[in-house]
Amino acid sequence: MSAGSAVTIDVDGVRHYHAIHGLPPPRGPDPIWRAGVPRVLELCAEHRVRATLFIVTEDLEDETARELVRRAHVAGHEIASHSHRHRYELSTLAPAEIDAELRRSIDVITAVTGEPPRGFRAPGYTLSAPLVDALVRLGFRYDSSVMQAPAYWAARAAARLALRARGRRSASLLGDLRQFLPGYAPRGLVELPISSALGWPWLGTTLALLPAPLGAMETAVARATPRRGPVVLELHAVDLCDAGDGFEGALVQAQRDLAVPLARKRGRLGQAVAALAKDARPLAEWC
Ligand SMILES: [Zn+2]
Repeated sequence: MSAGSAVTIDVDGVRHYHAIHGLPPPRGPDPIWRAGVPRVLELCAEHRVRATLFIVTEDLEDETARELVRRAHVAGHEIASHSHRHRYELSTLAPAEIDAELRRSIDVITAVTGEPPRGFRAPGYTLSAPLVDALVRLGFRYDSSVMQAPAYWAARAAARLALRARGRRSASLLGDLRQFLPGYAPRGLVELPISSALGWPWLGTTLALLPAPLGAMETAVARATPRRGPVVLELHAVDLCDAGDGFEGALVQAQRDLAVPLARKRGRLGQAVAALAKDARPLAEWC
C-alpha cells in the first residue's frame, strides 16, 4: 500500500525520560541534544529524507540546540511543535494555560525558523477537547498524536503499576483508552496518526530492541496496514543514543533500549528509514 510516508522525530530531552521513570532530574548537559539529534539528522541525510521534527521549544533557549534546529529547517526538515515545556498534564490544564504553552511554542519556532509551526504532537500523546480546540484556534493545521495501538495503552498501564509497586511515580499520564482504538480522530483538526502494526505503534524504540528481521517484518506490516493518509514512522532522538553517551546509570537501567549499542540501532532504524526513503515527505506536506 503506498500513499506516501513520513519520518517523524520527537526530540524529548533526557529530563523527560527521568520523569517518565520517576527518577530525580538529571544533571549536566543533555546527551540527547548533544549526540542524538545530530545523529538523527545524519541518518536522514544519508537516506535523503526530509523529516518532521517535533521540538520541545523551551530547549531552544540553548544556543547549540537553536543552531541545530535552524540547520534542520534550512535542510528542508519541518519544525513542528511538541509543546513548550512537554508538560505531561498539558491536556488537563485550563484553556488559558494550554493557550499560553502553545503560544510560547509558536513564538519560539517562528523566531528560530521564520515560520510558525503547522503541526503538533502532544506530550505523552494525550489529547483532550480543550487541547484540540486550542490547536484549532491558534492556527495549527494538523495533529499527529493519535496511535491506533491499544496494546501500547495496556503496556503503559502495566508500566505505571510496576513503578508504583516500587514506590515511584511516572509523570506521564495514562490517557484515555478510546484515543488508542481504531477510528478515533479529534474533532476539527486534520489527524495524521502514528502508524501501527498489529495494535503496537511503529516506533524507533521497538525497532531498536527487535532483531533486524523482526523489525523488517514490523515495518512491512505497518506499511501494509490500511490507513488514511501517509504511513508515519515515529522515532525519538534518544533512539540514536546508547549507554556510552553519558546517561545516568539509573536511567540506563530503566530505559532498556539505551543498552543496545549505537551501531546496531543505527542499522535497525536505518532499515526502516530506507524503506520510506522513496516517498517520505514532512507531515505538513500531506495535509
Ligand atoms: Zn515527547
